[in-house]
Amino acid sequence: MRLLLVEDDPMIGEAVRDGLKLDGYTVDWVRDGVAADAAIAVGDFAAVLLDLGLPRRDGLQVLKTLRARRGAVPVLVITARDAVADRIAGLDAGADDYLVKPFDLDELGARLRALLRRAAGRPQPIVEHGPVTIDPATREVTVHGRPVAVSAKEYALLVALTERPGIVLSRSQLEDRLYGWGEEVGSNAVEVHVHHLRRKLGDDVIRTVRGMGYTIALDGGA
Ligand code: CA
Repeated sequence: MRLLLVEDDPMIGEAVRDGLKLDGYTVDWVRDGVAADAAIAVGDFAAVLLDLGLPRRDGLQVLKTLRARRGAVPVLVITARDAVADRIAGLDAGADDYLVKPFDLDELGARLRALLRRAAGRPQPIVEHGPVTIDPATREVTVHGRPVAVSAKEYALLVALTERPGIVLSRSQLEDRLYGWGEEVGSNAVEVHVHHLRRKLGDDVIRTVRGMGYTIALDGGA
């Protein structure tokens, strides 16, 4: 899953980015409000982590612009502004959740999972799809109850497909979700990940839609 991190503090930014990468997310990091506007306008992000005190353009303005353009991406505000009035302003401007600095990275991870769950309309913490289960908290994948080891990119691909069962995602849409800016993408990277996942999960779980892309079987290939 691809996230946008908007944070001008280099130490906090680095810690958050590295922590989220360890959790298996693809993270693009921008350091001011103008760059955040530009990234949100073109990127396909699962969520935005937004600092409010930013150079060039305030985070609250970034958030208001995003919602005014009818952008629906979930936003988690991370900020040092802990006054109640600031929290209310952030939530009323369209933030989905709020974390005050200094915060614990594990709590950030848990709040993010809750946010992504709500955005997917899925109250259950475990994703079940036919014989396949995915636990976003541990990134454990099972097939018929048997744990399966998957790589970070294979996990991201599986999550992207199970987010919206029955929807076909093209190769380039999947590349966008799996790879951040500046990451080298091999020309057949997605095909290779799909091939490996089929070997691990069974041939029927991921279906190829000729000329269009890939989809997860609605019955999970059960
Ligand atoms: Ca700041």
